[in-house]
Order: sequence, then structure tokens, then C-alpha cells
Amino acid sequence: MKAFQYVNPANEREAVAALGTERNRILPMAGGMDLLGLMKDYIVSPERVVNLKNLDATITVEDPARRSGRTGREGGESGVGTRESGGTRIGAAAKLADLAEHAEIRKLYPALVTAAEEVGTPQIRNMGTVGGNLMQRPRCWYFRNEEFHCLKKGGSRCFAVEGENQYHAILGDGPCYIVHPSSLAVPLIAYGARVRVLGPSGAREMDLGGLYQLPNQNLYGETVLQPNEIITHVLLPAPGGARSASYDVRLKQSHDWPLALVSVSLVMEKDTVKSARVVMGAVAPIPWRAQGAERVLAGKTVDEAVAVEAAAAAVAGAKAMSGNAHKIQIARTAVKRAILKAAGLAIV
Ligand SMILES: Cc1cc2nc3c(=O)[nH]c(=O)nc-3n(C[C@H](O)[C@H](O)[C@H](O)COP(=O)(O)OP(=O)(O)OC[C@H]3O[C@@H](n4cnc5c(N)ncnc54)[C@H](O)[C@@H]3O)c2cc1C
Ligand code: SF4
Repeated sequence: MKAFQYVNPANEREAVAALGTERNRILPMAGGMDLLGLMKDYIVSPERVVNLKNLDATITVEDPARRSGRTGREGGESGVGTRESGGTRIGAAAKLADLAEHAEIRKLYPALVTAAEEVGTPQIRNMGTVGGNLMQRPRCWYFRNEEFHCLKKGGSRCFAVEGENQYHAILGDGPCYIVHPSSLAVPLIAYGARVRVLGPSGAREMDLGGLYQLPNQNLYGETVLQPNEIITHVLLPAPGGARSASYDVRLKQSHDWPLALVSVSLVMEKDTVKSARVVMGAVAPIPWRAQGAERVLAGKTVDEAVAVEAAAAAVAGAKAMSGNAHKIQIARTAVKRAILKAAGLAIV
């Protein structure tokens, strides 16, 4: 690993001030579970690493019972995370283990808990943070190997096209076929999460779904964040009565990333789906909203036939590469099972 300067800012503003505008020259580090691997493999060699462990790590769940009568802004430092509309605020430095074990999160956001408790191993969940998980870099083995100067690293070709592509994308159209790696992003987008981003000119909020970019929009990075911006919080709306679930398929029950992960959130009117969000992970370069499936579900009572129809719609635009046709069937099954699970039906 190349020698680097280590900066230990006391708070989010100092952290942003220690970053710079040139991509990969100065990098933030939270738990280091991903970044240290990239540095050891010489995929990135920053001159300076900025520690983010001192960012807010709290998880605050708004209790709807205490909300009546409350007005005005709430939140910690710099008015972070106004909670006028209720909901939950998760500090970017919160550990995955703390998220998965949080009693109220477990009650209100089951799809998020399922995804968080499946990440890696207990050691990874004890070190990895929410912000780092959302910002982790892709796992494509050509990207992770310094010998391959592929398109994403400024080269002229994508080695996955004619090479080993069994874990690569079936949706998203290239020219780079990475799959989005964050398990948390999938349920968070299903729940309509927003993120608070801090940069040199202040803080802004955006939909988490809008954070991620396809390779044809941004080949060298994966998000809209500038090199001197950081995620400080995730903001989740109160779930109301929505029914939700995640379902993933793995090669084996190991600590590896899923082959497909699907999160579903159903807003119900009695037994009828009023509106649905279906988000797929590990199948496209970004967390993929399956809007065709959402349209199938709207206005229906969920049963197996409806789930099958929605699952078919979710993968209708999928295209296999030379070695990953199996992922289309896997994704279809994961969508069907996530819908059935969210609806409280038996998984078939
Ligand atoms: C064996 C193994 C299995 C794994 N399985 C899974 C899995 O199934 N699902 C899954 O989701 N993950 C999985 N992971 C990845 C792991 O969850 C992530 O590496 C971890 O969550 C990253 O968090 P971190 O805090 O350590 O991030 P870091 O390594 O510190 O940072 C990751 C990246 O995000 C940037 N960054 C960190 N925090 C911020 C911030 N607040 N704002 C802006 N940029 C930031 C860093 O610069 C870096 O580029 C696995 C990892 C391993 C090693
Ligand atoms: S999929 Fe992307 S990261 Fe992987 S080899 Fe192709 S261009 Fe590189």
C-alpha cells in the first residue's frame, strides 16, 4: 500500500474541509472495510485519508405517538434531519450491526433489517458503516485487479463482455456491466429514503435513488457526489402501514454478496395494493426500480399469480451476457418471493 497522510477530523465540517476536488487524491474512510481493500490492491492510492468515524452514528426513530402537537425543526448539529414529517434519521457512521439490532428499526423496517443482517460476517457488520456501505465501490473482479486497465479505470475495453461475467449486470445497458453492491441501498430506496449530503457550500438532501448513476452517465464513479462531499445521514419516512420485505438469493449461504436481492414495500388499502415499490439489487449498475412490477401490483390483491406476473414484468427488459443467463431466472424468482413475503403469504 502506498504511504498516505491520515487526517482525523472532529466533526462533519472539518471532514469536508479536509477533502479536495480531485477524484481519488483524498478519500474519506469510515469503517475501512472496502477502502482498505482497494488501497491494498492498488486500485486507489490516495495521498490523504480522512477519517469519518466521528460523524454522527446515532439512529433516531420518530415515535408517531409523540408527534402530535410538535412543530418546528429538530435534529442535531446544524439542524440535521428535520423531522417535521416524522420518520427516522440514521447517522452515516452508524454501524451495520447497530442498525440490524436496533429494536425499533426491526419493528418498523423489516426489509432493511433482513438486508443489513445478511451483509458479510459479524466482523464486517461491526466495522462497516451505513455511509460506507452505500458508497462502497463495485466488486467486478476486473475492476478489483490492478492488472486489468478496463473502461472504468480509463482503459479502452470492458473485459467482462468477452470474459468472466457470471455475476455481472443483466439490466442497465453498459458500457460497463458492474452490479450495484450495497445491500442497504435496495430496501432504503424501497422505503423512499433520502440522504443528507454535506459539501463545502453546505448541506443538501436528495432521494437516495437519485444518488446513483449508470455507467453511461458516469463511467469512473457511481454516484453524483463530488470528491469533497460526504453523506452524513439517511432519512427514512415513517413506514405508516406499509408491508415490506427483502428476499435474496446467494450462491451458497456464505458471507458473499447476493446474486440478487429484492426489496418490496406495499402501501395497502385493506387487501388491495394502493402503491408498490420494488427495487432490485445485484442485477444492474444501480439499485434498479422495477416499475413494470410496481404497475402490475397497483390496484391488485396479491396472490401467487399476481406475484408471478409482477416478477415477469421486473425482468422483461433484462439481457443476458455470455455467462449470466441464470441471473434472469434468479432475479425473477427473488422478485416473486419478496412480493409474497411482503404480503404475508407463503413463499413458493
Ligand atoms: C467478505 C465481504 C462480504 C461482504 N458482503 C456484503 C453484502 O452482502 N452486502 C453489502 O452491502 N456489502 C457487503 N460487503 C461490503 C461491506 O458491507 C462494505 O465494505 C462496508 O459496509 C463498507 O463500509 P465501511 O464503513 O467500512 O466503508 P469504507 O471502506 O470506509 O468506505 C467505502 C467507500 O465509501 C466511501 N465513504 C465512506 N463513508 C462515506 C460517507 N459517509 N460519505 C461519502 N463517502 C463515504 C469511502 O471513500 C470508500 O470509497 C462485504 C464485504 C466483505 C469484505
Ligand atoms: S464491468 Fe466495468 S468494471 Fe468490470 S471490466 Fe467491465 S468496465 Fe471494468
